[in-house]
Amino acid sequence: MDQKRRNFLQGSLLASGAVLAGAVEAAPEPPKPPKEPKPPKDPKGPKPPKAETYDVVVVGAGFAGMCAALEAAEQGAKTVLLEKMGRPDGTTVYSSGWIAAVGSRFQKNHPEDSKEAFFQDMMKLSGYRSDPELVRVYADEAGDGIDWLADHGTPFFLWENLPAPELSRCVISPGEGITGGSKLLRCLMAALEKAGVPIVYNTKAVHLLKSPNWDVEGVHCLTPEGPKDYRARGGVILTTGGFGANEAMVGQYIGPWAAKLIVRGSPWITGENILMAQEVQARLVNMDQFYAGPITPTGHANPSPLMHAGYGIQVGTNGKRFVPETWLQVPKAKAIAQRTPDNRSFMLIGEDANANDNILSATIERFARLGYHVFKGETIEEVAKAAGVPADALVETVRVFNEAVKAGKAKELDPPYEYETPHALETGPYYMIPAAGGMASTMGGPKINKFAQVENFERRPIPGLYAAGAAAGGLWYQDDIGGNQLGGGMVFGRVAARHAARRAKAEAARRPPEPPKPPKPPKEPKEPNGPKHGA
Ligand SMILES: Cc1cc2nc3c(=O)[nH]c(=O)nc-3n(C[C@H](O)[C@H](O)[C@H](O)COP(=O)(O)OP(=O)(O)OC[C@H]3O[C@@H](n4cnc5c(N)ncnc54)[C@H](O)[C@@H]3O)c2cc1C
Repeated sequence: MDQKRRNFLQGSLLASGAVLAGAVEAAPEPPKPPKEPKPPKDPKGPKPPKAETYDVVVVGAGFAGMCAALEAAEQGAKTVLLEKMGRPDGTTVYSSGWIAAVGSRFQKNHPEDSKEAFFQDMMKLSGYRSDPELVRVYADEAGDGIDWLADHGTPFFLWENLPAPELSRCVISPGEGITGGSKLLRCLMAALEKAGVPIVYNTKAVHLLKSPNWDVEGVHCLTPEGPKDYRARGGVILTTGGFGANEAMVGQYIGPWAAKLIVRGSPWITGENILMAQEVQARLVNMDQFYAGPITPTGHANPSPLMHAGYGIQVGTNGKRFVPETWLQVPKAKAIAQRTPDNRSFMLIGEDANANDNILSATIERFARLGYHVFKGETIEEVAKAAGVPADALVETVRVFNEAVKAGKAKELDPPYEYETPHALETGPYYMIPAAGGMASTMGGPKINKFAQVENFERRPIPGLYAAGAAAGGLWYQDDIGGNQLGGGMVFGRVAARHAARRAKAEAARRPPEPPKPPKPPKEPKEPNGPKHGA
């Protein structure tokens, strides 16, 4: 309790005691008036936080943030990029670096594709729930974005003729020992340095600065040197990534089952975009949508290729099948979290799987390089014991499976086994590869319009607030063309930057011209260069 309040309470207790006492005794001396509070030592009060002013303030140094910052600088805006960690450390670092595009210079040999076909495919994959206006901007701008990155020194190659809907739409920057996503960031960091854009690390944006009518005017940050305001004349662009590593938000927006998912990307992607955008009543959309994939429970290895090799079965820790093995990686990863009590399963596979391009040995070798060892046994009992799964239950599952395969009735199993040419599990040694459901990235967030401005509940843009990449909502729903997420960051990061830079210019034009500076007094004439005294 503060001193003033304590004095007041003590004073009133004394006073009421005096009244009671006065009924039987002589009137006491009137209580002394409370002492004047001492004036604070610093009459100006606590110092305001340090502040710097820019045209465009970008929050979050992932792929979207770097694209936004570079574009803003190229539009002539004084730009700063803020990053809460000591280095770029978002989900981009973990990503393969595929970017989906149409019409880039790398796709010249594919006139069969078009912006319209790309738009239609993206809408279809989203179940027609993505905002068509945003998808149209994506289809129109992604090709130009790839050329722009290439002009800034990002090497790309095109992965051609993939199965639909990827087709010849995946442009990749080869990682060469690092992830493709890290490669993209390194190229952008070099370009930002050249353009003179500072990346300020260990600077975490915690809330928005706003005018009395709620225009966004900057961000308040925590830095190792204390609090600091970054003011923005044109706008603040939120590129803080999604909220997949914020267990409470995942539970709240997606469901408690999803909070069991293992984070496949960065552990620092914790939804500050949501917390800040809500300060100005931004409309959040598609918050229950996310991209999933399987992952080993420890070691961050991806067992997906083996899970789709056309061999083996997937079982829970109880030794029973629970999901059709043919399901693609996203629904399968979700099913592991939804249908098993502990988000744990195993792929049981025999040595004969190597008939498919040595996929088994290649996976085991890849896992060993990552320090991750799979369970092995000469028989089903042995491998079950090694993995800690009840041996009798697994033996029974395999017996039923083998019988169905041999009788040509695998599709009638529950759940159905839908490969056209199923293989009975009869060739040891057998392997059990742990697979859990993993959270790759969330798709929902503050709804943006075609200029990447964040909208409020009335669908009006909130002046000065933009979002891009996984920090923005409206572009994705349900599924996407592989490479759509990085692509979304690139496209809308640049769109936001252009709009915010224009806004900064308009703001500068409105400002009254600064009074001319008084002329500097003439400098003292320098001593002419000559031999030094005493030389
Ligand atoms: C294993 C894996 C592979 C993937 N592969 C692909 C792929 O090939 N193609 C594709 O399109 N997508 C892929 N994705 C998805 C894609 O990686 C993400 O959607 C994308 O990287 C998000 O980029 P971003 O710039 O929006 O955010 P991030 O890359 O997550 O960057 C956000 C940055 O903001 C910082 N930050 C957060 N909060 C604050 C704050 N308050 N103040 C300051 N800074 C803050 C973070 O530290 C981080 O550096 C993959 C995902 C995973 C997990």
